[in-house]
Amino acid sequence: MTPVAIITGASRGIGAATARRAAASGYAVCVNYRRDRAAAERVAADIAAAGGRAVAVAADVAVEADVVRLFETCDRALGPLTALVNNAGILETQMRVEMLDAARLQRIFATNVIGAFVCAREAVRRMSRGRGGGGGAIVNVSSGASRLGSPGEYVDYAASKGAIDTLTLGLAREVAAEGIRVNAVRPGFIDTEIHASGGEPRRVDRLRESVPMKRGGTADEVARAILWLLSAEASYTTGSFIDVTGGK
Ligand code: NAP
Repeated sequence: MTPVAIITGASRGIGAATARRAAASGYAVCVNYRRDRAAAERVAADIAAAGGRAVAVAADVAVEADVVRLFETCDRALGPLTALVNNAGILETQMRVEMLDAARLQRIFATNVIGAFVCAREAVRRMSRGRGGGGGAIVNVSSGASRLGSPGEYVDYAASKGAIDTLTLGLAREVAAEGIRVNAVRPGFIDTEIHASGGEPRRVDRLRESVPMKRGGTADEVARAILWLLSAEASYTTGSFIDVTGGK
């Protein structure tokens, strides 16, 4: 049977690179996005043009009903789910903790944490051998920020990734005997559009000298680690983290 993957936030950046690599590895891919329909449909069209199967589905992972509809749409379009990449994530303008307000914290945690939890729930309901599923794999996209804390930039975002790390550890142990592996990647400074949301599109250029490898990473370098964790090559790996950070 064809493996089927949902990749959240796959209209650009790390999610789009992961969608392309997953399709090249034989997955039928559900390309989730929130707003940028044209970009998501381009990713799906590129996959189809290369001989793969993909469907682009709009859903805001911060909205539970959207997540439920996303998974149901994928069931109908592509068949039984075997993989989830919890990639959708946001950050906001760089500022110190003393300037943060609760509304911002709610936006960050609603997408980065609650979205990942609800997607994981839907995936487990489908993949768990205890519920008649065939097993599968989940990869959560955390961040090196969970270890470093992002002082002066976005401690809220870093803390949301700390929650993702704990979700990874707990869920991995909870569902290991049901045939589901749960792992995470922690990217470092990756050249994508997310940094513009923080108000500094060239952030990776500023910080590259602080990286032992003296450069930022690419979305595809993160995608390769994600695909390895999803694959049978990682069959005895669960509750683990791959830091894709150039040594930082
Ligand atoms: P990006 O270029 O900003 O892309 C974010 C993607 O997520 C877009 O496809 C966006 O869709 C989607 N998205 C945002 N909010 C969503 C929501 N509520 N529901 C569904 N989709 C949503 O970001 P990226 O750099 O590729 O980051 C991907 C992941 O890697 C994030 O979890 C991020 O925290 C993590 N990460 C990134 C870096 C880095 O340096 N880039 C480092 C560490 C971790 P629309 O365009 O349709 O809004």
